[in-house]
This record gives sequence, C-alpha cells and structure tokens, in this order.
Amino acid sequence: MQFRDLGLNKPIVRAVLEQGYEAPTLVQEQTIPLVLEQKDVIVSAQTGTGKTAAFALPILQQLFDKQDAPKKGKKIKALIVTPTRELAIQIEENFKKYSKYSNLRTGIVYGGVSFEPQKDMLRKGIDILVATPGRLLDLHKQDAVYLDFVETFVLDEADLMLDMGFIDDISKIEHLCPEEKQQLLFSATMPAKVVELAKTVLQNPVKVEVAPTSSTVKTVQQLLYYVPKPKKIELCLHVLRNTIKGSVIIFRRTKYGVDKLEKSLAKNGYSVDSIHGDKTQNLRQEALQKFKNGDVSILIATDVAARGIDIKNVDAVINFDLPNVSETYVHRIGRTGRAGENGVAYSFCSADEKNYVQAIQKLIQKDIEVVEEHPYPLDPKAKPEVHRKKGSKYKKGRKSEASKKKKRRWY
Ligand code: AMP
Repeated sequence: MQFRDLGLNKPIVRAVLEQGYEAPTLVQEQTIPLVLEQKDVIVSAQTGTGKTAAFALPILQQLFDKQDAPKKGKKIKALIVTPTRELAIQIEENFKKYSKYSNLRTGIVYGGVSFEPQKDMLRKGIDILVATPGRLLDLHKQDAVYLDFVETFVLDEADLMLDMGFIDDISKIEHLCPEEKQQLLFSATMPAKVVELAKTVLQNPVKVEVAPTSSTVKTVQQLLYYVPKPKKIELCLHVLRNTIKGSVIIFRRTKYGVDKLEKSLAKNGYSVDSIHGDKTQNLRQEALQKFKNGDVSILIATDVAARGIDIKNVDAVINFDLPNVSETYVHRIGRTGRAGENGVAYSFCSADEKNYVQAIQKLIQKDIEVVEEHPYPLDPKAKPEVHRKKGSKYKKGRKSEASKKKKRRWY
C-alpha cells in the first residue's frame, strides 16, 4: 500500500515522502481511511507505530479543501489534546512537516511558559491547535481561545491522561467544542477506564488495534540482571563501560532517583542529562535536544516525562528501577529497536522487585533472558533490602507528621 492509495492529496503525500516515509505503517493504513470517512475511531497503538501521522494526515486532508484565507481570520477546526508538553511539541512539529505545502497553520499551547506569546498566536488565527489540558482551560477562562468551530477532536495518550488525573479537564474541554464533531481517541493501553471514557466521548466508534501492549518490540533484545539494590549504580557503570555502545535512555521511577543517578554518572565522566516533572519546560527541551543531537549520549528519565517522546536511534534502554506497572516496561523498551533497528533493553532487578519481573513476563508472555555472568550478582536467597539512615530518629513503621502531610508528586 502507498500513501497515495489512502486518499491523501498530492501536497500531503509529497510532504510525507520528503520525510523519508516509504509506505504507511499498519496503524496509518487502518486509521486514515476511517478518519476520512468521518467515523469516530478508537485506536490502540503505542508510540513508535506512526500513530501521530495516523490522525495528522487525514485531519490535514479534511482541512485542506476548506482552508480559510489567512487574512480572513482562521478558526480552530482541529483540536488535539495530549497530556505532556513534550508530546504536544512533537505532535505540532509533525503537523508542521506534513502541512508544509498548504496554508494550514498549526499552533500549540502548554503550561509552564508565559501566556502572552500563546495568546498572540491564537489571536493571529490557526487551523489546528495542539494543547495540554490545563493550559487550554486557563486560556479559555481568559477568553483567549475559542473552540466553537472545532470539527475534529483528538484525545491522544488517553490512558496516560487518565493516570495523570485529567478526566475532569477532558470532559470540560469536550463540552467547550460543538456537540457535532468527529472524535478520535488514541491510547497505548486499553484499561477499563479508557474504554469507559471512550463510551462517554465517542459515538459508535470503530476500533483499530495495532500492537497490543503485550507484544514487545521484536527487534529488542531483552536482558535481565539480578543485583542487590545498593550495587545498581556499579552495575550500571559496568554495563555502560563494557556492553553498551551508543545512546542510552535510563529509566528511574522517581525524580530523586533520576537526579542521584545523573550526579553519579557525571562524576564518572559520562555526558549525561535528564528529564523529569520538576524541571522547567526549557530545561526538559534542552536535555531532549542535546540527546537528539548526540551532544550527550545518556538521558535519564522518569516514565511520565519520557512517555511517547520520539527519539530515534536509541541503542539501548536501561530499566534501572523496574516499573511497578507492567505496561510501562513495554513503553520503556519501545524507545529502542525502532523502525527495524536492533536495540537492547537491560533490566536491573533487586530482591524487592522480583514480583514485578513475574508480572512483566506474564504480560509479554515470555521469559526475559537472565544474565548470570556479571560482577554484582544477587544472592538468590536475598531478602528485600530495607534502607534506613543510621541514627534515623523515626522508628520503623512510623511516619513523621511532616511526611504524612507532604503530598509528593513522584513523576
Ligand atoms: P509516532 O508513533 O507517531 O510517535 O511515530 C514514530 C516515528 O515514526 C516518528 O519518528 C515518525 O516520524 C515515524 N513515522 C511515522 N510514519 C512513518 C512511516 N509511514 N514510515 C516511516 N516512519 C514513519
């Protein structure tokens, strides 16, 4: 199948071919015709499958013929809501590339940066808006954005959106758009709560399922290292020195863990940067750019900050901490071995994480290859380590009032 067989016009096909895409991916082949038929569609596909173009291309095609002249004042006709700033930026970049040979304009709004340039852009007029939920609602409160002409509403990464507590925001945004509109929902996983959301938002949706979460990318070699928790840093250095060649993303569960590992690796002479939810948008973008350019070869990230980020040619992923949600493992290792390239995923498992391995193996329906020969093996009988600072004034099982009160964001 070719792009031109999907009902896309020449300027769009030309822009796509210029990206080096030879043929549509599976999710594009299945989704594009449905969107062009004006159907509501619910798509289960991970990032890396080409899902952004699966909604961007038919949206552009639909808008192509009814472009407003720039001087007449453009109105937002397609709205894409996505949970993180990085994803929003990536989606906008894609729209811009694919609409290169048109007058269609794409804009973006996300939090953590000043309002004025975004208001300015909205005043000038755009056809397509990519937004994170909070900032979009803030702008609406300030009468800076009108969604009354939206014809297509895309909910991207719906599962992550729900995990991040955006359910009320999504509902508000949906109600700000006209009742009659086409709605598309994309989600990497399809837990019951996403299915429930789809029922309330979409009308008789057609389902497209491309890569179920349990199918780990075939080109990724998966390796498992059992290691005592305090030895993980040494094991990481060992693997970086002896095994990995090229770029690597290291995943940690917490922001604190990311910062700590970044310091250790930098002290050992590695060029490294990191992204997590406490960093400003500019710092996150800078880190991402440095990694993409090859200025640093190691990027350390929490899951939420890294979710869906499209970074090509990652040679390896290290799961420094194993994720407690099995689907997250599949997302993480999906960062490597993209587009037919080979990649390796290294997972470090300490005594307290053994249950996670079982759950992951059940999900991916295969056993991960265990690397026995390494300098920091875990005693098979080892019990989970409990870390408490010497002289800690808090007794086991008792939390300080301060720590009880403090609500921690962990991503
Ligand atoms: P996505 O799943 O949308 O994050 O896309 C993952 C990567 O695949 C991005 O770098 C896209 O530029 C790329 N891509 C999208 N469609 C195609 C295609 N048909 N052929 C080759 N690469 C593609």
